[in-house]
Amino acid sequence: MVYELVSGRWAPKSANPMFSSDYPGLTYKCGCGEEHLLSYTKFIMVAAPVKFVFVCDNEYLTGVRVKGIFRQKSIELWTCKNELYLEVVEKVNSE
Ligand SMILES: [Zn+2]
Repeated sequence: MVYELVSGRWAPKSANPMFSSDYPGLTYKCGCGEEHLLSYTKFIMVAAPVKFVFVCDNEYLTGVRVKGIFRQKSIELWTCKNELYLEVVEKVNSE
């Protein structure tokens, strides 16, 4: 996951206001055990080509990649608790 964060060239959502997670009907499997709809879940980070970090109401973060142009498929890259993510980010920034 650390590798993914460093190599994935993630950027805060605010830096890419054009990014949208509006994929009707597309869900991802979250670390909290539930499935969430992409279009209804907040995301905080984005990366090219189409990757998001979603944060759900149970404070789980999930990296999701969306594949396909006409029929999209979501692929979970990693998932973890909010606190763990913050720890990893701190680690990456201090290196
Ligand atoms: Zn969740």
